[in-house]
Amino acid sequence: MQDSVELQKNQSIPLTVTGLSSDGNGVGHYNGLAIFVAGSVVGDSLQVRLAKVCKNYAYGIIEKIVTPSPDRTVPDCPVYRSCGGCDFRMMSYPAELRAKKEFVQNAMTRLGRLDVQVENILPSPQENGYRNKVQYPLTLSNGHITAGFYAARSHRVIPCEGCRLQPEQLNAIVTDVCALLEKHGVSVYDEATGKGLARHIYLRRGAHSGQIMVCLVCNGNRLPRQQQLVQELVLAHPEITTVVLNVNTRQTNVIMGEQNITLYGDGTVCDTLCNVPVRLNPLSFYQVNTPAAEQLYGVAQQFACRGEATDDTLLDLYCGAGTIGLSMAHLFKRVIGVEIIPQAIENARENAAAMGLSDKTRFICADAGTAATQLASEGLTPQVIVLDPPRKGCDDATLAAVVTMNPRRIVLVSCNPATAARDAAWLCQNGYAVLRVTPVDLFPRTKHVETVCLLSKLSGAKNTIDVKVDMDELDVTSAETKATYEEIKAYVLEQTGLQVSNLYIAQVKRECGIIERENYNNPKSEESRQPQCPEEKRKAIMEALKHFGMV
Ligand code: SAH
Repeated sequence: MQDSVELQKNQSIPLTVTGLSSDGNGVGHYNGLAIFVAGSVVGDSLQVRLAKVCKNYAYGIIEKIVTPSPDRTVPDCPVYRSCGGCDFRMMSYPAELRAKKEFVQNAMTRLGRLDVQVENILPSPQENGYRNKVQYPLTLSNGHITAGFYAARSHRVIPCEGCRLQPEQLNAIVTDVCALLEKHGVSVYDEATGKGLARHIYLRRGAHSGQIMVCLVCNGNRLPRQQQLVQELVLAHPEITTVVLNVNTRQTNVIMGEQNITLYGDGTVCDTLCNVPVRLNPLSFYQVNTPAAEQLYGVAQQFACRGEATDDTLLDLYCGAGTIGLSMAHLFKRVIGVEIIPQAIENARENAAAMGLSDKTRFICADAGTAATQLASEGLTPQVIVLDPPRKGCDDATLAAVVTMNPRRIVLVSCNPATAARDAAWLCQNGYAVLRVTPVDLFPRTKHVETVCLLSKLSGAKNTIDVKVDMDELDVTSAETKATYEEIKAYVLEQTGLQVSNLYIAQVKRECGIIERENYNNPKSEESRQPQCPEEKRKAIMEALKHFGMV
């Protein structure tokens, strides 16, 4: 009976949620259509109002939870819906872990077409309060300076000084900073006019050292009554070891500016990660969940050398402050790290020096692909290569150089299961097999998950490891391009209700300097005219590219 009725926008339908999409939405089927519902849990029986109906799928909003899933919990945060930071606060942590393991398995099987059984996910030691970095935009709420969050997909600040993902100690400091800014007559920045001084509060805390950095992001290079304000703050919170003013006078939604002015202490926070000493300035990349990152590094080490000392060379590509390589440097003869951010490479060298490892380490500041190609042409043959790229994954130049260097083992660490599967599939087409895949939960209550893959060199013609890969199906480039375009379209549709074409996506990608296939990228001849992406759609596509970590 269901099949004969066409679904309409605003229609109310019953729905049982049977799965989760990789972007964290629950999904059920009705009338032959997949219905995606944000905030739903597998096993929920719902009454759903349809917000958007497309040809093969629709988006719905929960009207009523008829029978809650046994995995459903009451979200323990007052701004859970409006903030949008916690995708999974309405489900139990064990259910979240099952879902994340499934995301990774689906990526490996469906996107990578890899025949590998994903291993049990390592849970985060802490479900809440795990973040060592806190960033709050400031706003005026009822005439008072308040920290908050941007509402999902907007720049409206929702007051919230008690985020469950942040340690309470940091939330208490945020509340006091707001009160002190107000007491000393500091104005709040207004995005619309570009006027006002205080933009963001940004805190970092060394999970092991307990050192805390307070960074005030300001539309100017000094605060009124600056010294007094800082004195009162550190008196109230002696655990604060440094206070920095970050200058950001640009009208942009990039949070941090480039100039840091130290107001108290030495402008850095020291900590350790797997016994590697790290010194962080406000701009350095650092894993946000330290105990879970230590688990991640532990898996990487097991995969790299089973935790045993070797006479091998390790190449750590996308090494940040060198922490992965340095955490296992005692097991290798030599460690080489490559990273594109100069400050991070400086940190890596300092960290190596502090460990007395300068002689056996080398850190190169360069693009991973360029450096790996150069190292390969110099004849470097490291036995183990670690890859830890950003969300967009590795480029072909990097992967090709990795294969040329012919390592016995490749350890691929990634915060994006889709690109991890794509890159692992590429390596599998070029002489490697995926032996193990372990997800690690670094981001409880959100849809994000880290994945560590171990790939091993197949031994020549007589492949000793049986990988069931259909080479015809493994057209990674086209599969990835299609997946990416489809993902972008679905994301834009879900967030804004706008439909965008491949052409428009290609135009925006091109504008962002992302290399494109010829046919989407350029008009076929000089004379041909292509429609230009309207501004509203351009913005929506930009947001999607940001969401997928492509810009
Ligand atoms: N392995 C590090 C950092 C991983 S995050 C850790 O565990 O902390 C990814 C790193 O890749 C970032 O430090 C980023 O600056 C770096 N990166 C991004 N694009 C790069 C490129 N093209 N070449 C080299 N490094 C790059």
